[in-house]
Amino acid sequence: MEKILLKNIENPNSTDINEYIKAGGYTSLPKAIGMVPKDVTEEVKKAGLRGRGGAGFPVAMKWTFASADPKFPKYLLCNADEGEPGTFKDRPILEKNPHLLIEGMAISGHALSAEYGYIYLRGEYPAAKHILEKAISQAYDKGFLGDNIAGKGVKFHLAVHQGAGAYICGEETALIESLEGDKGQPRIKPPFPVNVGVFAKPTVVNNVETLSNLPYLIAVGGEAYSKIGSPDCPGPKIYCVSGHVEKPGVYELPMGTILRDIIYTHCGGIKGGRKLKAVIPGGISTPVLPPDKIDCPMDFVNMPKHGSMLGSGAVIVMDETVCLVKVCYRALRFFEHESCGKCTPCREGTGWLRKILGRIEKGEGMDGDIDLLLSISGNMLGKTFCPLGDGAASVVQNFIKHFRPEFEDHIRSKTCTVAG
Ligand code: SF4
Repeated sequence: MEKILLKNIENPNSTDINEYIKAGGYTSLPKAIGMVPKDVTEEVKKAGLRGRGGAGFPVAMKWTFASADPKFPKYLLCNADEGEPGTFKDRPILEKNPHLLIEGMAISGHALSAEYGYIYLRGEYPAAKHILEKAISQAYDKGFLGDNIAGKGVKFHLAVHQGAGAYICGEETALIESLEGDKGQPRIKPPFPVNVGVFAKPTVVNNVETLSNLPYLIAVGGEAYSKIGSPDCPGPKIYCVSGHVEKPGVYELPMGTILRDIIYTHCGGIKGGRKLKAVIPGGISTPVLPPDKIDCPMDFVNMPKHGSMLGSGAVIVMDETVCLVKVCYRALRFFEHESCGKCTPCREGTGWLRKILGRIEKGEGMDGDIDLLLSISGNMLGKTFCPLGDGAASVVQNFIKHFRPEFEDHIRSKTCTVAG
């Protein structure tokens, strides 16, 4: 498949607007501006584009809700706060292909009749901030942003807002709170951001990868775009692979590529010829899979049928030398640290789970600890304000579901018999 999202990133000057234009960039924006906004949304609907941030919500539907709200101004926010452990798929776009994102945002801004956009960038990406700001300034100079885009009287202004390093600000309502200058904690929904978002105005929050699909989608049309990858959720997908594979990295492949093929064909198999033990397919919050469950198409529709989720498409591969009790403990340490503290089941539950997992990992586990883990996590699921609490509980439940003997062995042997 030709590269769409990661096109030309090997060019050392890929962030320069002239190089982007030379490679065919900024031709879809005038085309989109020549269309009435609802026709742009119609193309996105025909394409079947779903959000790439993790939830996979249909993009055109979200845009339609925001467009239907009579309040103005409307806002477009780009969620560039990728903080999910294992996830680094948006980074190459932000650092190597910033004009693709800017063009995508300007197209989306026109479809939504939004005149203002922000890129909410994770605090840990300082290099991307400078690259994006330089690229935005170049786009203003060439007339692709501003009050009169492409000489057609269309207005769209764009700025970067850098977060302070909180994982929870990747949740869209916490992101909005943070952008407004408040503590980054999720809001209760409804109302949804499409009606009451930033500054209480209709707001669409889309992910970096999602918005970066738009220049190509508009260039070829929704019909042609919908033929790429999985028929259930078409388009290209960036999978980022880490852990025990021969060639970890960022891979742009058709949506729905089989997980086994990602690991064994594209990434060269398990490092050193060792055996595969477990895979987390979509970032740390997604359910872990054992080796006999990896023949699954990596898309939003098929992964749940195979017991996991696509999430961000961040594949974490673990070989036979990995202690999964330790992995589960480290994941809960992360969730406890990143819990915003707003709701009790998450604030207390993540700490309690971490504590029990910690003592099992140290060889101080007790009879009944596994049932206690299942009981606590079961009482968290579905009882928290935002998906962080559910994600933490589901990590524990799925590690125990697939690897319970390893947890039992830790408690019985009072040590780790896998990693020593
Ligand atoms: Fe905050 Fe956790 Fe509740 Fe989400 S689930 S609102 S992170 S305390």
